[in-house]
Amino acid sequence: MEPATGLKTAEFQLADRVNRISASPTMVVLAAADQLKAKGVDVADFGPGEPDFPTPEHIKRAGIKAIEENRTKYTPVPGLAALRQAICDWHARELKSSYQPAECLVSVGGKHAIFNAVCSLINAGDEVVIPAPYWVTYPDIVKYAGGRPVILNTRGEENFLVRASDLEKLLTPRTRMVIVNSPSNPSGAVIPQDEFQKILALCQRKDVWLMSDECYSHFTYGDAKPYSIASLANSKPGLIIIGSMSKTFAMTGWRIGYTLAPQPLIAAMTKLQSQSTSNPTSIAQYAAIEAMRGSMDSVPVMLAEYARRRERIVAGLRAIPGVTCNAPSGAFYVFPNISANFSKDMPNDTAVAKQLLEREQVAVVPGEAFGAPGYLRLSYATSMERIDEGLRRLNRFFSNVK
Ligand code: PLP
Repeated sequence: MEPATGLKTAEFQLADRVNRISASPTMVVLAAADQLKAKGVDVADFGPGEPDFPTPEHIKRAGIKAIEENRTKYTPVPGLAALRQAICDWHARELKSSYQPAECLVSVGGKHAIFNAVCSLINAGDEVVIPAPYWVTYPDIVKYAGGRPVILNTRGEENFLVRASDLEKLLTPRTRMVIVNSPSNPSGAVIPQDEFQKILALCQRKDVWLMSDECYSHFTYGDAKPYSIASLANSKPGLIIIGSMSKTFAMTGWRIGYTLAPQPLIAAMTKLQSQSTSNPTSIAQYAAIEAMRGSMDSVPVMLAEYARRRERIVAGLRAIPGVTCNAPSGAFYVFPNISANFSKDMPNDTAVAKQLLEREQVAVVPGEAFGAPGYLRLSYATSMERIDEGLRRLNRFFSNVK
């Protein structure tokens, strides 16, 4: 007899918590572009959200040395004591905070750090306010935890400014957390320091956790400088800082991220981590110690290259009919508005992205994925030569749509 759960059919029942979330739309685009590339198609790929630079040599050496010295055993669940200390020291030096190792947890990337924090704090029905455009993962993690994402729409005409006064209008007695990301993926917007301070003050006044995702902290342009809200005196209560080695040190595959937060929250997150992943990979932790303690000379070199590409891609996009584009203040993405090009056959950004891939083999992520219809996200973590080729194709595509 067929079991009631349908285990022998393709329609077996999955847990509600996993049915509440969807596969990352950025991963879907990457997969479609990869399939074309595997067939030998020349794709102008603006999809990837990762540096195109290799991990700096001295960091790789530290990983290799760790293997050779057999540092391949379990480590303490929250990370090596030396790494937790190194992260606190680095954050204090670079971003003017004052955390102790007991307030630091090392996880399997920044994404895992966010997952641990949200799952440790959010109960069914709790509301989490997230400004849009947002990094695709935030709402899904909140939903997985049983919470309800509440979206604050910001405006491209205002450079996607997140205002404390706008956030305040969305706070209810059920609000448990606000998540901000500066510099932002996907818009590249940076929250001005005075506004950031108002956001923290609002959260503290309303007893709401503030999660600040700093994964792109060191990639800023023009007047914007690396900044952490944790540099403010008395900022620690209710503040969760999320950081990552992935972008700053071109270490996406090593999977090391961290949380800085009040010790009781770190203890709860460590408990959760102890029953799921345990420690992040030991050898990656040794490489991360070198990232935190060693030379940071490679960072300005990468930043200078991103800055050059940013100039080129913003100018190139602005020259395309029906496209407007803010100059991003940080990260390595541009987020042009292409809605003036919508038509009956191409009524939204998802349709534009699909046709761009089909007709011109250009891979971009539609703004809808980030809660911002009308836009496309292009990563400029790709060579100047590929940027120029992609711009040529985009120009041809949009010049022919009408
Ligand atoms: N936060 C933001 C805004 C990101 O864009 C990413 C990666 O794309 C992450 C966090 C997580 O990065 P990782 O898990 O590689 O540390």
